[in-house]
Amino acid sequence: MFTLPPLPYAYDALEPHITRQTLEFHHDKHHNAYVEKVNGLIKGTPFENANLETIIKDADGGIFNNGAQVWNHTFYFAQFDPKPNTTPGAALTEAIHRDFGSLKDFKEKFADAAATLFGSGWAWLVVDQDGKLSILQTSNAENPLRKGLKPLLTCDVWEHAYYLDVQNKRPAYIENFWKVLDWKKIEARF
Ligand code: MN
Repeated sequence: MFTLPPLPYAYDALEPHITRQTLEFHHDKHHNAYVEKVNGLIKGTPFENANLETIIKDADGGIFNNGAQVWNHTFYFAQFDPKPNTTPGAALTEAIHRDFGSLKDFKEKFADAAATLFGSGWAWLVVDQDGKLSILQTSNAENPLRKGLKPLLTCDVWEHAYYLDVQNKRPAYIENFWKVLDWKKIEARF
């Protein structure tokens, strides 16, 4: 059985960029609902004792959708900090320069991927087995682990991630996202 991990900061810690109200709904309602649904669905199936990574790689349908959304949200909430490091360390900076030109170029390309993703889904920075970085858009619950890629950073662009704060203005949410993203945490995943 999976449990909802607590937020690693206070509900109002990311204000004004991400509000308490958004975090209360996003974490306590949406994230928690995925936990409860996957727990109900795995009972009596081969996934009853599986971890989330196995569910992401091998499951389909509701078990995949809800299990992946549990993982995706835990990964998403863990990236933020009220006092974030605004640039990555040397190793990740070097890889970003090599694969995107500069941190500024990367952020523009990532923001564009997050803004243009049609419907609900996630924008990702991933690294492949050769160490090459790329930006990925995925729909709904889809997760790069399923393609053998390692996620480093993600932006939730389901409307529930931003509608209470900025309504339909997804690009405004993405601008706020950078202001609380802690690059030290992204570097640690690299
Ligand atoms: Mn979400």
